[in-house]
Amino acid sequence: MTTPLTCREPGCGSTVALSPDGFCVNHDVARRAAVEAGRAKGGAVTGARAAKSRTITLDELASWGPLEGLEDVARWQGKVAQRVATGDFDARTGDVVSYALANMGRTLEKVAEMDRRLKAAQAEIERLRAKMEQERP
Ligand SMILES: [Zn+2]
Repeated sequence: MTTPLTCREPGCGSTVALSPDGFCVNHDVARRAAVEAGRAKGGAVTGARAAKSRTITLDELASWGPLEGLEDVARWQGKVAQRVATGDFDARTGDVVSYALANMGRTLEKVAEMDRRLKAAQAEIERLRAKMEQERP
């Protein structure tokens, strides 16, 4: 009768990928450097992926200044383009924010056009009122 081979490290009990002298991958001194190199590589890949899917934090948004007028929209669009181009933001975040900024820009232009028309109408009313006052007998 043979007992199943387990890692010689007390309390480990692993039966997987044992070395000739009876240690698992985690407890084999000879394989430690290779295991750590693999972990570091995996960490670097995961880190790069995490950096790519990075989004905008509230603090960053605050540092971009106000977002109220068309000039602000243009400034913010420039910031987003810069961050996407340098890989600081992922493209999806850049697309979503650019889309929202473009919508805001169009809305602000419509509001400005309505304001121009309202002011022109008010000026016309004032002109007609003054004319009526002059023509009153
Ligand atoms: Zn072990």
